[in-house]
Amino acid sequence: MGRPRRIVLKMSGEALASSASDETIDSETVERLAGEIAEALGVLDLELAVMVGGGNIWRGTTGAGAGMDRATSDTMGMLGTVINALALQDALEHHGQATRVLSAVHMAEVAEPYIRRRAIRHLEKGRVVIFAAGMGNPYFTTDTSAALRAAEIEAELLCKGTHGGVDGVYSADPKVDTGAVRYEEVSFMDVVSNDLRVMDLTAITFCKDNNLPILVFDLMSPGNLLLALGGERIGTLVR
Ligand code: UDP
Repeated sequence: MGRPRRIVLKMSGEALASSASDETIDSETVERLAGEIAEALGVLDLELAVMVGGGNIWRGTTGAGAGMDRATSDTMGMLGTVINALALQDALEHHGQATRVLSAVHMAEVAEPYIRRRAIRHLEKGRVVIFAAGMGNPYFTTDTSAALRAAEIEAELLCKGTHGGVDGVYSADPKVDTGAVRYEEVSFMDVVSNDLRVMDLTAITFCKDNNLPILVFDLMSPGNLLLALGGERIGTLVR
């Protein structure tokens, strides 16, 4: 795979929180991630869109598990991603990086609506596009939304940044099994048939059907973002 020119980065909501503080959004963490994004874009010839999750604020399944209407609970989750998107936008702009937040749920006073051609135009102009509200439909995750948007804007790579200390795809859970080995590369079929935890199954099968490679890497390790966006072989490539 040559060095990708257009990338979608999936960042979980929890990546914006911090174990060191109780804040839902930890300003220092967001500033650091934004700084790394801005730095990477300063040196790489690259167009970048970010799909941000909302798990630090709300997950649809949490409410549904407690008896809430699933669609309502998922809508709350989507709104959470908008909060995160605004935090990331603010931090990127502190670093001098132009951005646009494109929301899949209409919110005219807060963000532009997601329009595919507009997203591409922003990217061509060097702006970081931040996708908010996932794909706008309940019953989906931001992983699947990231895959969908990546296909729509014809991105060459989906970078899935992890935040839990696992730096790729392993043969078993490395936190449980000390013999687990990290794959440098793994096929979509192996991910599905061996139930390797990369992204949810809907996202994986979508990427497989649309020939969209996924790079799974540790987002929280300083310097990794530059390597991942630069096409270096860190983490695990799923294709
Ligand atoms: N969500 C949704 N539709 C979408 C994207 C997200 O309903 O297209 C909801 C869903 O409830 C999900 C929540 O938003 O649990 C937060 O997103 P996600 O769990 O993907 O965030 P992450 O785990 O990446 O932080």
